[in-house]
Amino acid sequence: MSESVDIVVIGTGPGGEDAAGRLAEAGLSVVAVESRLVGGECPYYACVPTKMMARASDLLAESRRTSGRAGTTTVAPDWTPVAERIATDATDHWNDQVAVDRLQDKGVRVVKGRGRITARGEVTVDDQTFRATRGILLNTGTSPTAPPIDGLADLPYWTNRDIVQVTEAPASLLVLGGGVVGAELAQIFARFGTEVTIVEVADRLLAQDEPETSDLIERVFTDQGITVRTGAKVSAASHDGSSFTLSLPDGDLTAERLLVAAGRRPNIRDLGLDHYGVDDTARALPVDDRLRVTDGLWAIGDITGKGAFTHMSMYQAAIATRSILGEDGPWASYHAVPRVTFTDPEIGAVGLTEAQARDQGLNIRTGTTRIPDSSRGWIHGSPGNEGYIKLIEDADRGILVGATTAGPYGGEILGLLLTAVHARVPTATLKTMIYAYPTFHRAIESALTDLG
Ligand SMILES: Cc1cc2nc3c(=O)[nH]c(=O)nc-3n(C[C@H](O)[C@H](O)[C@H](O)COP(=O)(O)OP(=O)(O)OC[C@H]3O[C@@H](n4cnc5c(N)ncnc54)[C@H](O)[C@@H]3O)c2cc1C
Repeated sequence: MSESVDIVVIGTGPGGEDAAGRLAEAGLSVVAVESRLVGGECPYYACVPTKMMARASDLLAESRRTSGRAGTTTVAPDWTPVAERIATDATDHWNDQVAVDRLQDKGVRVVKGRGRITARGEVTVDDQTFRATRGILLNTGTSPTAPPIDGLADLPYWTNRDIVQVTEAPASLLVLGGGVVGAELAQIFARFGTEVTIVEVADRLLAQDEPETSDLIERVFTDQGITVRTGAKVSAASHDGSSFTLSLPDGDLTAERLLVAAGRRPNIRDLGLDHYGVDDTARALPVDDRLRVTDGLWAIGDITGKGAFTHMSMYQAAIATRSILGEDGPWASYHAVPRVTFTDPEIGAVGLTEAQARDQGLNIRTGTTRIPDSSRGWIHGSPGNEGYIKLIEDADRGILVGATTAGPYGGEILGLLLTAVHARVPTATLKTMIYAYPTFHRAIESALTDLG
C-alpha cells in the first residue's frame, strides 16, 4: 500500500532541507527522505567544520606575523579546541536531531533511509512507499571518489568526512588533489605543524581559477613550507600499517596520513531515474531554469552541475519551490555565480575566468592590480598582504562578466564585484564610484583604471 503525499524530497542537503520546509509551510504535505544527516554534507562534513578549521589556522598565522611588527609571540598550535568546537558547536557530535526537529516543526514528515524512485511519482524507502502527486524533488548531493590509482581503493585513506573528525593533527599528510578542498585542508594542517605535500595531476593548483591564482597560491604555499607537486602522475598507492606511500615516476612520497580530495560523484546512480527515462550515469542532471528535470521531477544542488556550493543549493531551492507551487519567477540565472576558496590569501571569484570568456567568443579587456601595491595592502605589510584583483570586461557591452579578488578578506571584497556582475553595472559607472581610503576594496579602482 502506498501513501499519498504532495511532494517527496529525496536527500536533504542545504537546499532540500530548505525547500521541504518552505513547501510544508505553504500548506503541502511533504515527506523528506534522508539516508544520513538532515542538512547534508555542508554542516557536518564540509563548509562549516572546514571553515572553523580555517579560522583557527588563520589565527595561528596572524599570531606568527606579530614578530617584527608588534613585538613577539610564541605560538603553540593545538588541534584539541578545533576538534572540540567542530564536534560540539558545529555538528552536535554528528547528530542531526536539531535539524530533524526543525524540519518537523515546519510540518515536514522526515523519513530516515535511502529513497528510491520505484515508478513515476513513487518513492520507496525500505518498506514504505509514497505516491507523490505533485512530484519528486531530488537533492541527493555528491560523495567523495578516489582516482583509479593502483592499490588506492582498499587503503584506509581519509576523505573530507574523516578529516573533519580527527582529534589531533597528523605528523605528515599527503593530499591527493589540489583543488579547493585539497588546498584549504593542506594549508590548515600545515599551520598546525603537519608536514604537508600536495599531489596534483593537473599542471597547477586550483585549476578552475585564473592562472594568476594558481601562481599565487603555489608561491605562498611553498613559502609556508608546503610541498607542491603539480603535473604528478601517481602510478600506485600503498599502506604498510603505519604510513602511506604514493609512487611517482621520480620516486615515492610517504606520510602518516593520506587525504584523497580528488573529485566527487553525484549520488544519482540506482536512484530509479530510468522510470523518467533519465540517464543516471551522467556527471549531472540536466535541469531547466525552473530546476525541472522533466514533468513532475525537480533537482537542485550539486547534482545539477551548476556549481557545487551551499549557496547554489539554497538559491535553487527557492526557485524549485516557486516552480512546484506554480508561482512566478524570476527563474535561475548562472551568469554571476560566486565562489570562495578559504585559503590565506582568500580567493573570491565570480562569473567567467578570462579563458572562459575568450572561449565564449567575447571581445574582452582585462584589468589587474596587485594588493601589495594598494594603499591598504602596503599598510598591512608582508607577509599576509599577498593577492591581486582581476577584472574581465565584455568590451562590447561595457560590463564586467567575471572577476577575481584574491587577498586578505578576498571573499568579502568580492561582494562589490558580485553585485556589478550580477546587475550588469556598466564599467563606466563603476569608474565613477567613490572608493574608501585606504581599504582593500579600493584596489578595485586601480584594476578598473588598468582596463583602459
Ligand atoms: C570539504 C568541503 C568543503 C566545502 N566548503 C564549502 C564552502 O565553504 N562553501 C560552499 O558553498 N560549499 C562548500 N562545499 C560544497 C557544499 O558542501 C555542497 O555544495 C553543499 O553541501 C550542497 O550540496 P547538496 O545540496 O547538493 O547536497 P548535500 O549537502 O551533498 O546533501 C545531500 C544529502 O542527500 C542524502 N542522500 C543522497 N542520496 C540519498 C537517497 N537516495 N535517499 C536519501 N537521502 C540521500 C545524503 O545523505 C546527503 O545528506 C564544500 C564541500 C566539501 C566537500
